[in-house]
Amino acid sequence: MDNSLITQADKVFSDFFKREIYLDQPYAIKDLDYSERLITEFKSLLPLIPKDAPAETETGIVTRELERICSFFIDTLEESLTSKTTEPMEIVARFQIEPSDIEAIRHWLKANRQAVVKANTEQMEKSNGDRRTSIPAGSRELRRKAEDILTGCIEDLKALAVEALGMEELSALLSEFTVSIDSVSTRATSNRISKVALVSLQGCVYMSKGSIYVDVARLIKEFAHEVIGHCLNYYLTEHSKLPIFVKENFYLDTSSTRESVSDHMERYFFPACMERSKKLSSNPHFYQLEEEYTNFSNISLLEKYYRYLESLGIWVLATSKMDDHRLQTEKLEQYSIEPKWVSWFINRHRNNWDRSTGLLLPSVVSDLRYSLESVDKQISKRKPKDMLKFHRAVLTGCWTPKGFENWVDLTGY
Ligand SMILES: [Zn+2]
Repeated sequence: MDNSLITQADKVFSDFFKREIYLDQPYAIKDLDYSERLITEFKSLLPLIPKDAPAETETGIVTRELERICSFFIDTLEESLTSKTTEPMEIVARFQIEPSDIEAIRHWLKANRQAVVKANTEQMEKSNGDRRTSIPAGSRELRRKAEDILTGCIEDLKALAVEALGMEELSALLSEFTVSIDSVSTRATSNRISKVALVSLQGCVYMSKGSIYVDVARLIKEFAHEVIGHCLNYYLTEHSKLPIFVKENFYLDTSSTRESVSDHMERYFFPACMERSKKLSSNPHFYQLEEEYTNFSNISLLEKYYRYLESLGIWVLATSKMDDHRLQTEKLEQYSIEPKWVSWFINRHRNNWDRSTGLLLPSVVSDLRYSLESVDKQISKRKPKDMLKFHRAVLTGCWTPKGFENWVDLTGY
């Protein structure tokens, strides 16, 4: 791909990002003329993109990715100009979900049923009927106490992460980004524009019998996901030489690979913490790391069970008729551990159908993308020997699943 095509493509994508950034504003309306113009611009790029670009060179991979994302944005822009509901299978293809991905979900749910039941029982035994309450954020005194404890833990994790990952960019990131606490939300977040990563006070700290405790498994999970996953992805991508259309594509078509990278970093970081547990031993909240790891593994397994079960549920709804509850139930009940879950799931989605066509809404169908797990697929295809190189590859760029596979094959081993 020559430089003039990259420049031309970057210009079209900059025009596109301008529209997307504006649409985040209150009262914004999708400008019809501007959208039409973008479609024309994307369509004019397509014939200029060389066909059959090699997947063995960086230029070839970027060229292939340009073709994919041009088609993706032409489809989504055209969709935004009509009132028509897109067919579920078109959405599935758009997000690069293959029939083998759905088969893998079915297989996982069957093969791991006993392991999920066991993890659930272990978690119940561990909780021992003890009640927990959240930190009363309205109390300045209690909130401060909890925030101080959590701040100490975050500082320890920062120091340990630099050593565990062996990536100098992480030190640079930690001096540029604010890694702190959201005292109200129960969810961790990160933002590349404000350069902020926040773990959740209400998710990671709790009270019981008058004392404040840290949920260490949850804290390490949130920290790794946001800081070593998303923020390091923002940082390495921003400092890469990739073209704008790969660097700035923090949109729907790349969300599944970006989540998969953060999930992988969670699973990589916890064992790395245990290997270096001496570093954490002066902090009393980290003193039972082995037990916390069992906790973390069980939570991760239960989380995956629900994600896969939801994904299979969406697939079943997407491929059946709106009111065919009997068939939907038959197809799902063999996978759900709780018999009641199936009717609960079907009823929960009762308002997610297009009434005129009987099609499941595209926004629901597109959630299937989160079960793709591109990093796991990559590792099962070819195990990395040099983890540092592999991590640098998976954390650099915003790629669609196919682009990610090409990129990691070329640069991650
Ligand atoms: Zn995430």
